[in-house]
Amino acid sequence: MIGRKVIMWFRQDLRLHDNEALRDALEVSEQVIPVYVFDERVFKGKTRYGFPKTNKFRANFIIESIKDLKKSLQNKGSDLIIRVGKPEDEIYKIAKEIRTNWVFCNRERTQEESDVQDVLEKKLWSIGQEIRYSRGKMLYYTADLPFPVSQTPDTFAQFKKEVEKIIPIRKPLSVPETLPTIKVKLDKGNVPELSDFGFENIKIDNRRVYEFKGGETAALERLTTYFWDKQDIAHYNKTKDGLIGDAYSSKFSPWLSQGCISPKMIYHELNRYFKKSKNKKAYQSLFYELMWRDYLRLMGKKHGNLIFQKGGVKQESPDLKSDMTIFNLWQKGRTGIPFVDANINELNNTGFISNKGRIAIASFLVKELKINWQMGAEYFESMLLDYDPCSNWGNWNYIAGVGAEHKEDRHLNIISQAKHYDPNGEYTKLWLPQLKNVPNDCIHCISNLDSDQLLEANVRLGVDYPKAMIQIH
Ligand SMILES: Cc1cc2nc3c(=O)[nH]c(=O)nc-3n(C[C@H](O)[C@H](O)[C@H](O)COP(=O)(O)OP(=O)(O)OC[C@H]3O[C@@H](n4cnc5c(N)ncnc54)[C@H](O)[C@@H]3O)c2cc1C
Repeated sequence: MIGRKVIMWFRQDLRLHDNEALRDALEVSEQVIPVYVFDERVFKGKTRYGFPKTNKFRANFIIESIKDLKKSLQNKGSDLIIRVGKPEDEIYKIAKEIRTNWVFCNRERTQEESDVQDVLEKKLWSIGQEIRYSRGKMLYYTADLPFPVSQTPDTFAQFKKEVEKIIPIRKPLSVPETLPTIKVKLDKGNVPELSDFGFENIKIDNRRVYEFKGGETAALERLTTYFWDKQDIAHYNKTKDGLIGDAYSSKFSPWLSQGCISPKMIYHELNRYFKKSKNKKAYQSLFYELMWRDYLRLMGKKHGNLIFQKGGVKQESPDLKSDMTIFNLWQKGRTGIPFVDANINELNNTGFISNKGRIAIASFLVKELKINWQMGAEYFESMLLDYDPCSNWGNWNYIAGVGAEHKEDRHLNIISQAKHYDPNGEYTKLWLPQLKNVPNDCIHCISNLDSDQLLEANVRLGVDYPKAMIQIH
């Protein structure tokens, strides 16, 4: 250990608690150099259909997370070296310059992320160094599961049955008390601004569900508020299908996706809440959602790149078009179906929408408009504050009926969905204020209103609000 120098490469694990790679690095070395690289392909690049790979909301969230991580590292005696570029080049340059022994990181499994680590690994080999991988994304350790990843059950129900009551969830690792000071001379770099990636400053929309702030500190604050201060967890099983405000669901997803909080940390807090409250329904409901996240990650590992392909895990050929004109109407919230447009408006203005909103607009795109689901998945990849490859593409697979699950090929009627989840139109009117005078019981079928009713509601169809692009009954 004496004299050893290692790089701790932070990726989607922007935290000090329960960070395996950090723990492993500290165990073998007395000099640990924390590094984060803003990958220019992720922050400036485009998806295949031409959407920005990362929208300004997520870019801002990551910048905030990095500022928070740097501060936490400094408080423990260390610091964070920051670069903008390609991680495989930037980490390699640092490793070569200061002659480290290893690069530690938490392993990523999806294609783009593992390509980066594979290229870096080869470059490191050329200078006699290598990557040491740890794991830090899931609730469960693959080594603890009763099946190899390749044999993961293809249905969530079976996965849950084989895991839930049998496999204990390990305790999260604690935060290291102190961290070694960085002794080598190295340019520390600066945290970039949004404008460095070509983004304008964010306009705050007061209708947003939550004032998301990136970083481990804000994530742990949300954990305390949700479980203990406000105890909104108590009604999670009843409210999780909600649409407005911070109380209906946990809002942990943006922090989970950047690794500002570990799923094990959430689970153990949930378990503590359950022991005190004996509220089994709330406990189980949130636990199962966290299990869904693991299940989709395992599906991603098991089926590899199939989750990104049009035919999905089933390798079918769905009859869906890549029609940009139709897609643009959906993407801009101009379909003329109020519940769809309201959800898209929320997504476009805040980077976040509820689970039910995601299901509704995704299913409308695929099942009603018959548009290639990959376009929708890429748009979500671009826009979502909580974008996570397996959760996003896995859910789209499920909705498009090309996922591993058998039951998924269901057709959701958007009007029934809207009436069920937004019975008084409160949500729809929040995001489509031009429809505020439409009677609540008519909001989801405004194309049925006659000209007098439209006049009274002060709505000119085709002017103030688009005519429905398709008729749904
Ligand atoms: C088409 C589509 C795309 C999606 N894309 C993403 C994505 O990119 N990133 C993402 O984190 N979630 C995604 N989801 C899942 C889900 O909508 C969000 O996780 C959830 O709405 C986030 O809000 P929350 O943290 O308040 O969730 P809660 O209801 O409080 O759930 C707690 C946690 O459980 C996990 N979870 C809940 N539902 C799901 C689910 N269906 N699949 C996987 N994990 C789940 C999340 O980590 C979430 O933070 C997607 C769902 C759909 C239908």
